[in-house]
Amino acid sequence: MIKRLCILGVGLIGGSLALALRRAGYVKEVVGSSRNLGHLQRAVELAVIDRFEIDAARAVAGADVIVLAVPLGAMKSVCDQIRASIAEEVVMTDVGSSKGSVVEAVQASFGRLPPSFVPGHPIAGTEKSGVEAAFPELYQGRRVILTPLKTTSDRASRLVRQMWEASGAIVEEMSVEHHDQVLAATSHLPHMLAFGLVDSLVRMGDHDEIFRYAAGGFRDFTRIASSDPVMWRDICVANRRAIIAMLKRYKEDLSMITKAIDRGDGETLLKIFTRAKRARDQFVIG
Ligand code: NAP
Repeated sequence: MIKRLCILGVGLIGGSLALALRRAGYVKEVVGSSRNLGHLQRAVELAVIDRFEIDAARAVAGADVIVLAVPLGAMKSVCDQIRASIAEEVVMTDVGSSKGSVVEAVQASFGRLPPSFVPGHPIAGTEKSGVEAAFPELYQGRRVILTPLKTTSDRASRLVRQMWEASGAIVEEMSVEHHDQVLAATSHLPHMLAFGLVDSLVRMGDHDEIFRYAAGGFRDFTRIASSDPVMWRDICVANRRAIIAMLKRYKEDLSMITKAIDRGDGETLLKIFTRAKRARDQFVIG
């Protein structure tokens, strides 16, 4: 059980973790911190946190576990604020969607990688953000990837694993590099396609008409284009190398489909669509 948990960034991800752990009776006190007083007051009203401090250095005082749940672009500045206030044994983890950039931010801020730092990423979320969007079931049965470093202590890894398991998640471990490649393919690329498609259509002549006649397929495919633009800007910048590699590969495959359509090559199209349908059906049905 965690006596005092400090959540830096009480939004969808940090707030949902606090709610899940409170519901599981796994945490005694939750202290929150972010920039906006109104957001923090709302988090107390919603019983997501017990109390808050705007000053991150004060928020981490006496915490057993600190969770960095701010946007990727804010990880370094938050580390700079708390660095001098945390004892060696205090476990620190994060929830950032890209791992290499968070490890770099921690290294740049602390001047080393503390043994109590365990990088992590819950593979769960919605297109909504802010504490109002937080809910305790978010991690139920969902995967959380931990990417412990050579410097990470076994104790810190174990505590972070137990915390996520208490929230209902299934915990897996992999390297930072592997995480960033896998997520570029499975999450970051689809978001680029959704944002890109909606933006292309919006910039076409009569886009009102296009959206009026857009049916279920369009809605399904583009749901994630309602995600927070700031978060996705940060993810693209943070994981740009892996995302560029995926986009290049995808562009080549799309160009193959374009050429097949141009040639009227139904056989190639049928082969691609059948292969994709089989893979998607298998993934959905299991
Ligand atoms: P969110 O709902 O917008 O929450 C972000 C929180 O950070 C807010 O409470 C915000 O509060 C605070 N914040 C923003 N900038 C800050 C700063 N400079 N200093 C201190 N606090 C700051 O976003 P989220 O979806 O929870 O995402 C948080 C993290 O989780 C990101 O690193 C993201 O990559 C990762 N993640 C997101 C998802 C997803 O699907 N959404 C999934 C997995 C991982 P104030 O406005 O009051 O400062």
